Amino acid sequence: MPSSAVFVSHGTPMGAIEPSRWTAAWAELGASLPRPKAILSISAHWLTQGGVLVTASEKPRMNYDMYGFPAPLYEVKYPAPGSLALADEIAARLDGSMPVYGDTTWGFDHGTWLVLMYMFPKADVPVVQVSLDYSKPPAAHYELGKKLSWVRERDVLVVCSGNFVHNLGLRNPEDPPMDWAVEFDSKMHAAIEAGDHQSVIDFQKLGSIASLCHPTYDHFLPVLYFLGLLEDGERARTFTDGFQWPAVSMRSYISS
Ligand code: ZN
Repeated sequence: MPSSAVFVSHGTPMGAIEPSRWTAAWAELGASLPRPKAILSISAHWLTQGGVLVTASEKPRMNYDMYGFPAPLYEVKYPAPGSLALADEIAARLDGSMPVYGDTTWGFDHGTWLVLMYMFPKADVPVVQVSLDYSKPPAAHYELGKKLSWVRERDVLVVCSGNFVHNLGLRNPEDPPMDWAVEFDSKMHAAIEAGDHQSVIDFQKLGSIASLCHPTYDHFLPVLYFLGLLEDGERARTFTDGFQWPAVSMRSYISS
């Protein structure tokens, strides 16, 4: 049995100090999973151009890559170890198809630590993070998910962290979701339910609702990795959903 692949919509970094029904769902999911040998994190917050970076450090640093939040958020620690062995193997297996480099500067960004501090609060499972090459089109990220799927056979849990809908312009949690956000969320979810990965890769064909839901599409790319990581016959099961803000969908999946 391969280890699971997960897509988590991580929402606002405030989740680190203000628990919500979504952070509770992450905690519940983590507690329900067997303890993996390692975790591969694919976070929307590490974007590179023209190559892929892999965290190559035994003690990755905390990366507080968000601005203007209350001080306690910058004191959150997630002291999980890294894994040079896993980082090296990922780099070796990807090299040849794209430029891949070990990196000792990035550490864990909030796409990683915000989710893992709830899923694995003991921070005792080694974590490796890979960057997203934002110069590549969406289809390339789906293919890269496929190229990384071998890790699931090695007892490595893969956590893809982004947001199913991600327009931060509307921030009142009391306001109802925007119609276009609901439409994108339900259409993409229906395609995933039907196993129609191509329509998800081609999300930009939805036109204006796609560009409204993802003015930049970094937060949708982890969905494509997640789908690429699924094995033939595997399905995506929603383990939490709903809107945190009017255009921030928290829909999250696990392989099943
Ligand atoms: Zn984010």
